[in-house]
Amino acid sequence: MAGLIVLMLDGISADSFARRRAHMPHLAELAAGGLVVERLGAEVCGTSFPGRTSILTGVPAAVSGVYGNVIWGGTAFRHATPDDVRVETLPARAKLAGKDTAVIGFGMVRPEDARVFEGPWWAGTFLQRSRDINPVASPSGWLRVAQHRSERLVQALQGGGLERAPLPEAESTDRFTRAAVGDARIMDAAAALATSAHPPEVIFTEVLLPDTAQHYAGYDSALALWSFAYADALVGGLLQRLRAAGLEERYNLALLSDHGHGPIEKALRPEAIIPGAIFQTEGSMLHVVPRDRAEEERVTAALAEHGAIPYPAQHLPADQREQVRSYLAPDGYSFEYDPLQPSAEPVAAPRLRSSHGLRPGHPRDERFMVLAGPDVPRLRLERAAAVQVAPTLAALLGLSLTDFPGEALLEPGWSAARA
Ligand SMILES: [Zn+2]
Repeated sequence: MAGLIVLMLDGISADSFARRRAHMPHLAELAAGGLVVERLGAEVCGTSFPGRTSILTGVPAAVSGVYGNVIWGGTAFRHATPDDVRVETLPARAKLAGKDTAVIGFGMVRPEDARVFEGPWWAGTFLQRSRDINPVASPSGWLRVAQHRSERLVQALQGGGLERAPLPEAESTDRFTRAAVGDARIMDAAAALATSAHPPEVIFTEVLLPDTAQHYAGYDSALALWSFAYADALVGGLLQRLRAAGLEERYNLALLSDHGHGPIEKALRPEAIIPGAIFQTEGSMLHVVPRDRAEEERVTAALAEHGAIPYPAQHLPADQREQVRSYLAPDGYSFEYDPLQPSAEPVAAPRLRSSHGLRPGHPRDERFMVLAGPDVPRLRLERAAAVQVAPTLAALLGLSLTDFPGEALLEPGWSAARA
């Protein structure tokens, strides 16, 4: 059985993958020769940490505990960290099964759950908390992730003639360059490890730029299309290095995004609509913790004036359903809040011109998945559900599938070579 490289490409939607595949020639080639899911459902919320956690666990957010990038911490909202994931992740399962597992830049995994671990380059964003008016303590989960160093990875990079160059300072460059450099660095590390003298059996890694480019430059913008081509070129670089080392049969590949993307026309600003309330924006969802029944009624009525409606609590863990209330913005709207630039107007131009976490089941939140490699059949599936990803990856890894709620897209042990 071949090993597995899971490569998450942040925010490439099902629609972009269908319409803009010409910008992604390596992905297109892998899709043509492997298993492609054209429309893969998103987790609820369709934001990044729930998306990653779903890929890693195969359970809905109500079970994993990660229902947002930011979750209720009992007294305040705070960023979710890998320590908030309440069930075993795939890297942890693989490691428990005795597999040599590496996590290179994939978010929402604990350092101890892989033999080789490198945190995501963007983890530092969650340490500084520079956006807080009053500083909020950094979650220790991200501190551990950002500080972890694996000697084996350093050796693999040196053996591959690559440098562990630092990221450019945030002040010295724009966010697109920073993401491009960070992604290239992570992919260098993953490829160095995969082609090293001691290659891990399992590698989880990710590329962020497509999400950043779409958020700030717009859905289907020139920069967004360039970011798809850039991510695809990084995939091509990995493939080429595997080929050059004669290792193209060593790994199956799983390429997918954590959620889709879609254009945002207007932003609802909760600080102007429900001033004084405890709230957290999550794409087009708003989480609110009302202090009492009267405040909840005021909040619901004020949001309703802007077309935002209550959303049932199924995506919340049972122990948070008493406190947290959820509301959905109308189509084309998202919720935004910037504490450094509060808005007096309830409706404003969006800072994020394209976004995700639009509405549970929204087609623009849907993403794609491509599986390719020696154990993958040629197959085109129109659709699959978010909970089917993890068991499918587990099947490719030869892990037990008994405690996944979703059905794998492949029979365990299925091999194109044997079929
Ligand atoms: Zn994302």
